Amino acid sequence: MIENLEVDELVIGAGLCGLMYGISAVTEGSSVAISEAHHKVGGYATNFYRNKRKFVFDCSQHKVSGLKENVGNLWNTLKRLELQSLLDEFELHEEIGTVVYKNQFIKLPSEPEDIKKTLITHFPDELAGIEKLFQDIESHGYQHYMFFRKLMNEYTINRDILRESRGLSKITARDYFQSIFKGPDIVEVLSPIAIYSGSISNEVNAFYFLHCLYAMFYGGPAFMKGTGQRISDLLLKEFVDRGGILLKKNQVHEMEDMGDHMLVTTRKNTVKTKRVIATCPPEDVVRMLKKDEKSQEFKEVLENFTVGWGHFCVFAVLSVPPDELGISSPEYLLVSDTGDDFTEEDFENDRYYDLFTLSVSNYHRVDPEGGYILQFIVLDHGDRWFHLSEEEYNQRKDKIQEKLIKRVLKTFPQIEDKLIYTESSTPKTNYKFTLATKGSAFAYKMLPKTNLGLLSNFPNDKVKLVSTWSGGPGYETAMCFGFTQGKLLNMEKTQNI
Ligand SMILES: Cc1cc2nc3c(=O)[nH]c(=O)nc-3n(C[C@H](O)[C@H](O)[C@H](O)COP(=O)(O)OP(=O)(O)OC[C@H]3O[C@@H](n4cnc5c(N)ncnc54)[C@H](O)[C@@H]3O)c2cc1C
Repeated sequence: MIENLEVDELVIGAGLCGLMYGISAVTEGSSVAISEAHHKVGGYATNFYRNKRKFVFDCSQHKVSGLKENVGNLWNTLKRLELQSLLDEFELHEEIGTVVYKNQFIKLPSEPEDIKKTLITHFPDELAGIEKLFQDIESHGYQHYMFFRKLMNEYTINRDILRESRGLSKITARDYFQSIFKGPDIVEVLSPIAIYSGSISNEVNAFYFLHCLYAMFYGGPAFMKGTGQRISDLLLKEFVDRGGILLKKNQVHEMEDMGDHMLVTTRKNTVKTKRVIATCPPEDVVRMLKKDEKSQEFKEVLENFTVGWGHFCVFAVLSVPPDELGISSPEYLLVSDTGDDFTEEDFENDRYYDLFTLSVSNYHRVDPEGGYILQFIVLDHGDRWFHLSEEEYNQRKDKIQEKLIKRVLKTFPQIEDKLIYTESSTPKTNYKFTLATKGSAFAYKMLPKTNLGLLSNFPNDKVKLVSTWSGGPGYETAMCFGFTQGKLLNMEKTQNI
């Protein structure tokens, strides 16, 4: 039976962005419903169980930036929403991870000064470049990171820095590194960090990459305790406790502009609402508004963007704690001797899986109750998976899983006879639980000249794109952008009372 519902705002999607938007908007006094397609909340921040719930796997990695007291945007956001208790759900780590390159294990500590010292110790000839990098992170990276505070009128842009930043936004991170460093090795040690923003150094624009480095080095790198699902469930509880409504297993199919309100058709409801907040992919929003001619013109704007990378993940279980096998870092980034500068041809013929940075996440270290879990992750693209028949898909999945395990065993041969369970996911799996276009895990690629600002002017003013597609990828951005937009779009209501 289709039920009718009337709310001030309907949010499409209960990922981290939608949940934070919802909490922010109900806190400002609006009536809000979130309609979620899946049977549980979280989007990418969710988990699944195997072996009678003995193994718990996280669907995304749970590395989070921005939790340093007073400095990190996420820390500030949680404080402003009076969600300080959630800070206990994160653990700040003394180490970002270990880069494994040409048989060297380079452990990157978490404090910027210590990271700098580590780089200088390993690359003494690159001192000038390292100094320049940290100056740029502190100026360009910092200013980009302050975007959310600027939206809240709490930060004034330094125009002199911005002029130079524009140049950096036109080149790739790899070009930038090559302009400041003398040799290739330090470039290959720093480039794999791009994986945390779902990007590749020869694609991502240098300005955005400096933002990521600021968030990671200065903002406070942390891990969620347990899996991402834990945070998602706590955010849901907060949303409902503050008066929000969650509609589960309720995909949004269509919307129509009725003049003074929107009429939204979901799997189970017809919702009358003043505003729709879309955290789903922008191209789906255009499709949902098929009767609205002006919105169809937005397809041209969307042509400016390239759908980003998804992942291929191998979920692996060991028979003993990883620590016993000498795997103690929270994460290892395995870099091939030639670095991650692969070609289009490498990508087409699958050599890419042998070359590109492979992350080995030590889940057991962050969530000891979830089993002796490791996760092997490489960026991958939906274009390589969606068109395959079921048989081709399964064969390819087995082949890529084997390739990645082989690579991990080269660095960690000691785990070979301790692997008791493996299973993989592809961008197609990602799509199943998030409906993200082509299973992109990081929304649009942040290529040189990418301007997400174009997405803030959706032609229908009763529809707002508030998502990682329009604000940038990652947990921190998803949560902070959701909060900021929920506050800005709804605060007039509180002020007018
Ligand atoms: C393997 C992997 C590792 C990652 N590692 C990290 C990491 O270490 N650190 C980090 O910061 N980020 C990481 N990410 C990225 C991060 O998970 C995402 O950027 C972030 O979770 C996106 O949140 P979101 O709310 O914007 O979108 P999503 O999580 O995609 O949520 C969107 C929600 O909308 C719902 N939805 C979509 N369409 C509809 C519809 N029509 N009707 C109803 N509901 C709909 C979906 O079901 C989903 O629940 C990783 C991602 C992956 C896949």
